[in-house]
Amino acid sequence: MTVNIQNLLRENIKKLTPYSSARDEFKGEASILLDANENAFGSPLPVNYNRYPDPLQVKLKEKVAQIKGVPTENIFIGNGSDEAIDLLLRAFCHPGVDNIIIVPPTYGMYEVSANINDVLIKRVPLTTEFQLDLDGLAEAIDERSKIIFICSPNNPTGNAIHREDIETLLNHFKGIVVVDEAYINFARQRSFTQELTEYNNLVILQTLSKAWGLAGLRIGMAFAVTDVIDVLNKIKPPYNINEASQALALQALENVDEINTWIKTTVAEREKLVKDLLAFPFVQYIYPSEANFILIKVVAPRELYKFLVDLGIIVRDRSSVILCEGCLRITIGTPTENQQLLKALQEYLPTSEQ
Ligand SMILES: *Cc1c(COP(=O)(O)O)cnc(C)c1O
Repeated sequence: MTVNIQNLLRENIKKLTPYSSARDEFKGEASILLDANENAFGSPLPVNYNRYPDPLQVKLKEKVAQIKGVPTENIFIGNGSDEAIDLLLRAFCHPGVDNIIIVPPTYGMYEVSANINDVLIKRVPLTTEFQLDLDGLAEAIDERSKIIFICSPNNPTGNAIHREDIETLLNHFKGIVVVDEAYINFARQRSFTQELTEYNNLVILQTLSKAWGLAGLRIGMAFAVTDVIDVLNKIKPPYNINEASQALALQALENVDEINTWIKTTVAEREKLVKDLLAFPFVQYIYPSEANFILIKVVAPRELYKFLVDLGIIVRDRSSVILCEGCLRITIGTPTENQQLLKALQEYLPTSEQ
């Protein structure tokens, strides 16, 4: 399906004259920069940060393009993928009028970001297999539905969403389909990045926060057709990625091999942890995972959570989340950390049935 992106946009965004920064108006080499009211002397630091950063992160995008096989003009970089989620809502959803569709249990930021932007939320829960309810989605979609958020592999369940189902949505939905691939590096399923030429309503989110080990730098990516990327660039804060983050991310992206080793170890550790956890009688079920975490169903989730907290081990209690009753989400740690977790659990005896 070819969607008319211009028609989908909010009127005020269509008409917007974006802020033009000093670094937008002059690009290139200069010996004397007197255009941006910066401190010309330098910074009280070993590295100078006195100049505003590149608003369009050209070097970083070139590196991302090379690694991901996506042209630079199809890449947006945000202050975490959370910034891209917020900007998509602001670009396409008229507050109080338009709606988005989410498929719980899923990543919490879609809902929070929609609430901040006063955008209505329609919920179509996943099936008990944590897959898309396509009939339910078809029923929920109306003419004010602008964005559907799909997370694959899904947080907090860990499974990948069937590719054909996502393709069905891309083929039939007249709005934007966001495929959040924060955990794609751990998955068997391949990324949707090569499908960008096929679907102009596809937006893929990825991040350097998980497999790449850079959560503290706040670098998220959106991949989409240029119509969408250009709008995100137009409405983002001019200098959304600071100079330190751009430089450090560029440096980190040179280390693909190290990251791939960590990914392999994490996946191997995940399989091992699953096997070892299943030996405990209080572990009732572990959902299949293609991510760097597992969702486990236990006899007394809140009690087990507190037991671990007292030992300084923090997992995520998801037991109050729809379809995740009784569940804790456990991130895969280093081999030593995983061993310590197992050792702690050997001391645990459930006292209540909750
Ligand atoms: C962790 C996570 C992100 C990452 O967000 P950043 O803002 O890039 O750190 C995005 N989506 C999902 C589903 C996540 O779990």
